[in-house]
Amino acid sequence: MPHIDNDVKLDFKDVLLRPKRSTLKSRSEVDLTRSFSFRNSKQMYNGIPIIAANMDTVGTFEMAKVLCKFSLFTAIHKHYSTHQWQEFASQNPDCLEYLAASSGTGSADFEQLEQILEAIPQVKYICLDVANGYSEHFVEFVKDVRKRFPQHTIMAGNVVTGEMVEELILSGADIIKVGIGPGKLVQWFLGVTVLSNPVVATITEHFTLFPGSVCTTRKKTGVGYPQLSAVMECADAAHGLRGHIISDGGCSCPGDVAKAFGAGADFVMLGGMLAGHSESGGELIERDGKKYKLFYGMSSEMAMKKYSGGVAEYRASEGKIVEVPFKGDVEHTIRDILGGIRSTCTYVGAAKLKELSRRTTFIRVTQQVNPIFSDSR
Ligand code: 5GP
Repeated sequence: MPHIDNDVKLDFKDVLLRPKRSTLKSRSEVDLTRSFSFRNSKQMYNGIPIIAANMDTVGTFEMAKVLCKFSLFTAIHKHYSTHQWQEFASQNPDCLEYLAASSGTGSADFEQLEQILEAIPQVKYICLDVANGYSEHFVEFVKDVRKRFPQHTIMAGNVVTGEMVEELILSGADIIKVGIGPGKLVQWFLGVTVLSNPVVATITEHFTLFPGSVCTTRKKTGVGYPQLSAVMECADAAHGLRGHIISDGGCSCPGDVAKAFGAGADFVMLGGMLAGHSESGGELIERDGKKYKLFYGMSSEMAMKKYSGGVAEYRASEGKIVEVPFKGDVEHTIRDILGGIRSTCTYVGAAKLKELSRRTTFIRVTQQVNPIFSDSR
């Protein structure tokens, strides 16, 4: 008989952080940098643990150039050639410690990854990304990559439950990407226009589709896990083995990023929040005098058409395409996010980001903000 887990599982929108007495005078006193020592690679990390997602609209070299100035991290998408990597590496040697090279489980992807890592030994992080991290095939792949690259730090995912976090860590991964389908499905995203696939198809052929905050996995498959609970449970499992986790997806505002850290995430990965900027990939379009950038998921029809000649017949695209109002340079958004998290830390009395989860008490809520001047949350 099917089983029902009756424990309530929560999303970012279901909670707020309770303020606590604090000795901090100003948010400028808060230190957001963290240092980690990774379980399997034995490498050290030092930086602000926010990561641009390895989507071709977000994990770009242009994005990495800006993010690394703030000691933020970028998971570079897998569609750059080795030559493009070499060019970037020669011009931006200081950024390389904040980059991961990405790969799926396909052999072409993996050969390309090997080439990149051989050509640029300063790149020490590998991001192994599949939509469903639960397959035995993926576990075997992680073991092979660990054997091939014993000293690289391996990020692997995506999963949402503790037992799979443990299995991937024991198979050689250092940092587990947590999140399946946490992207929001509606238009709360700062005025974003969500185009459903058929509409997009009729509007214009080359507007393909996108995922993440543009992820439609929950709609297409019925599979998912509320992100706040996934992060709390997976962080607990990972930390028990001296592993680490990334909360991947579902953040719509700086407060959500703070909640992810409060829930125990070591890193937070962002897609939609970093889309729509000058440094983001995706076409810039202009309509009625307003500028937009297209944002789409990596398993969307758009991405599949762009890179593999279309959506294979056996699968549905699990992404949509959205037009994100153009937001200018990403630097402003980064300052906004970092300012927000610093402020969270002062409200709960955490002088360092490291202390945030220890100082966190979530309260369950039925409403996040007063909606009087907005139809978004
Ligand atoms: P966001 O921050 O936009 O809510 O989520 C970003 C995350 O969405 C990415 O890091 C990745 O894990 C996930 N994602 C990216 N592309 C796709 C896609 O095409 N389909 C699905 N289901 N998820 C995607």
